[in-house]
Amino acid sequence: MIVGFIGLGTMGGSMALNIRKAGYDVVVNDLRRELADRHVEAGCTWADSIGKVAEVADVVFTSLPGPKEINLVAFNEDGLLSGMKPGSAWFDLSTSSPTSAREIYPRFQSKSISFLDAPVSGGPTGAASGRLAIWVGGDEATFNKYKAVLDSVGDQAKYIGPIGAGSVAKLVHNAAGYTIQAALAEVFTMGVKAGVEPLQLWDAIRAGANGRVRTFDRLGGEFLQNKWEPASFALRLAHKDVSLATQLAREVGVPMRLTNLALEELTEAMNRGWESKDSRVAMLLQEERAGVLIDENAADVDAMKAKGDF
Ligand code: NAD
Repeated sequence: MIVGFIGLGTMGGSMALNIRKAGYDVVVNDLRRELADRHVEAGCTWADSIGKVAEVADVVFTSLPGPKEINLVAFNEDGLLSGMKPGSAWFDLSTSSPTSAREIYPRFQSKSISFLDAPVSGGPTGAASGRLAIWVGGDEATFNKYKAVLDSVGDQAKYIGPIGAGSVAKLVHNAAGYTIQAALAEVFTMGVKAGVEPLQLWDAIRAGANGRVRTFDRLGGEFLQNKWEPASFALRLAHKDVSLATQLAREVGVPMRLTNLALEELTEAMNRGWESKDSRVAMLLQEERAGVLIDENAADVDAMKAKGDF
C-alpha cells in the first residue's frame, strides 16, 4: 500500500513520520520542500506536486491550515480530484468546516474516491508520540479498511458517523475547551483577588468534585439520560453557591461575565419550579433554545462510557 501525505507542518510532519515508522511506503509533499528532509531520511519519497502524490497513492492524508488550502489541494488543476485513482481514499486530518467536507464528499464520490474528514486532537506532542484522537466522518467501510494506518497516527482513532461528523466533534471539543478556559480565567482571577495564593487555590480546586472528574464525563449522567431526579446536588443549593460567588466578585471588584450568565440560567431554572431537581437540570434550558432533546438510555450511556475509558 502506498500512503500519500500532504502538509508536513507542526502536526503533519510528525504524523507522516509515524506512518513511515509503522512500515508503510509514504510519498510526501508540502509547499516547503525543506520540511521533508527528515522524512526522506527516514525512507519516504518526495513528490514535487499534489498530482504526483495523487497518482501513486492508495490512500492520501492531508494536514493543512484550513478550508482554503484544502479546497486548493482538492480542486486545483493538478489536485487530488483530477489525480487520485478510483477506489482510493482521502482522509483530511486538518481542522475544517463540516459543511465544506459535505460539499467535497459527493464530488469525490462521483469519481469513486472515498473522502473522510478526520480531524485530530492532541497537539504537537500527541502527534509526535502517537497519543492522538482522530475523529472520522465518512464511509465506515473505508475507515475500517485503513484503520491500521490510522492507528499508526493516533491511539484513539474513532468512527463518529457520516461525512462531517468528525469535524462536528472536533468543533464541539475545541469550543468547549475555550469556553471553559474563559470561565476558568474568570473564576480564578476572582479567587486570587479575593486573597488566595494562586498555587494554593489551584491545589484546592483540583481536589474538588470538578477537579477530580474528566471534563466530558460529567455529561454522562443526568444530561445524556434526561434524568434530573433524584438530585445528587439540588438546584437550589447550586443557585445559592453561585449567588455567593458573584456576590464575592462584586465585593472584590472582579467582572464575572460567564458566571453571572450561569447564575441567570440557574435562576430561570428555579423559576420553572425545578429547585429540588438536580442542579444540572438548568442544561434543559439550552436544549429548549437549541430545539434539541437529548434522552439516551442508561445502558447505552454506560456501554459508550466503558468503550471510551482509557
Ligand atoms: P502548520 O501551518 O504547521 O502546517 C500546515 C502545513 O501545510 C504547512 O507546512 C504548509 O506549508 C502546508 N501547506 C499549506 N498549503 C499547502 C499546499 N497547497 N500544498 C502543500 N502543502 C501546503 O499547521 P499545523 O499546526 O500542523 O496544523 C495543521 C492542521 O491541524 C490545522 O488544520 C490545525 O487546525 C490542525 N490542528 C493543529 C493542532 C496544533 O496543535 N498545531 C492540533 C490539532 C489540530
